[in-house]
Amino acid sequence: MEMFDKILIANRGEIALRIQRACKELGIATVAVHSTADADAMHVRLADESVCIGPPRATDSYLNIPSLLAACEITGADAIHPGYGFLSENARFAEILEDHGITFIGPTSEHIRTMGDKIAAKETVKRLGIPVVPGSDGGVDSVVEAQSVASAMGYPVLIKAASGGGGRGMKVAKSEAEIEDAFLTARSEAKAAFGDDTVYIEKYLQKPRHIEIQVFGDGRGGAIHLGERDCSLQRRHQKVLEEAPSPALNDEARAKIGKVVSDAMSAMCYRGAGTVEFLYENGEFYFIEMNTRLQVEHPVTEMITGLDLVIEQIRIASGANLSITQDDISFSGHAIECRINAEHPRTFRPSPGEITYWHPPGGLGVRVDSGAYQGYRIPPYYDSLIGKLIVHGKTRNECLMRLRRCLSEFVIDGIDTTIPLFSELLAQ
Ligand code: ADP
Repeated sequence: MEMFDKILIANRGEIALRIQRACKELGIATVAVHSTADADAMHVRLADESVCIGPPRATDSYLNIPSLLAACEITGADAIHPGYGFLSENARFAEILEDHGITFIGPTSEHIRTMGDKIAAKETVKRLGIPVVPGSDGGVDSVVEAQSVASAMGYPVLIKAASGGGGRGMKVAKSEAEIEDAFLTARSEAKAAFGDDTVYIEKYLQKPRHIEIQVFGDGRGGAIHLGERDCSLQRRHQKVLEEAPSPALNDEARAKIGKVVSDAMSAMCYRGAGTVEFLYENGEFYFIEMNTRLQVEHPVTEMITGLDLVIEQIRIASGANLSITQDDISFSGHAIECRINAEHPRTFRPSPGEITYWHPPGGLGVRVDSGAYQGYRIPPYYDSLIGKLIVHGKTRNECLMRLRRCLSEFVIDGIDTTIPLFSELLAQ
């Protein structure tokens, strides 16, 4: 096996920078790509080379496969890291790269495709011994079918889009009276957002925690888990704050679910990083979906394991074995991540514009992953995440104290951010 000489990073913002850092530590040259709106972004400035791949709209730039292929050709990059979002879970993209002899740093296109269809994903993992949320067997095609599935299962139920993501296309029906409306709305939202109106039904769990297991596979049957992340604090089914370990699990419960998941990954010969997401209620785990990529919240796992997940991804993509065995993994302390968005902290209205002053916190156990800087102009075209504040401490309590201190130290002027929201959340 041979390590890559040059990696093209098909992303922007904090995650593009995060991946560049891993490449640099491995001595691999980096290629940044950017839209015309991102010409002065930090991920472009710090890369060894950069290529403009199109106009501001993501469909014309960061999602533009021919432009990305041309950028690989021009620069001689031998691999692409997709980050999260954009093309990271696009099976067709992975397939095209395979056909062009460019390594996609991620799983096989087949695994991406299976897990990208939530119905197929549930069927697959169920066969491999992972417990799933009770629900319909496959898709539900009509109001009549939705009614019969829901009344057999018992209300409340949740109607979900098979191609869903980002918390969209989900509708709760609390009773028979609501099912028709929920079904039709979920279906049309799914069609509009994902171009696929396939929906399925799940039992709506009343007070679940969201607990996800980080896994790595070598693609040849070797697989490990790196414990869990608790992402229960959400807004509109989207994560706001993540922590590890989960305050709800003990070592025994962690080892047990971790083994179930890593055994399943081993059986499917999963390659690279993945996250198996569960709802956890009354001591039971229920699979909801698997993400076949690096997650936004991966740093909390890095902080408590001391492992660099991006370096591990790159090593595996180059054909190497996992650098560690399950027995080598130990968890130390507690970590929490806050997603800092350029949004009004109460209305959540996006707040693009110039950052006139930027002073990030520092000190022991503090990590800020961000591509922002003083004078940076946040373009209005993309996700509003502008950085992540991650803190580590010996205990959850120390971690919370440290986080409070960091939030009061963090100054971002010129735009609205969600920092005040976190201060309020921590006060409760
Ligand atoms: P997406 O891919 O859109 O993020 P997920 O299936 O991962 O959708 O679910 C996102 C969130 O929605 C979960 O973390 C949870 O808060 C909520 N959710 C999903 N399925 C259920 C369910 N069956 N019962 C209760 N809440 C659910």
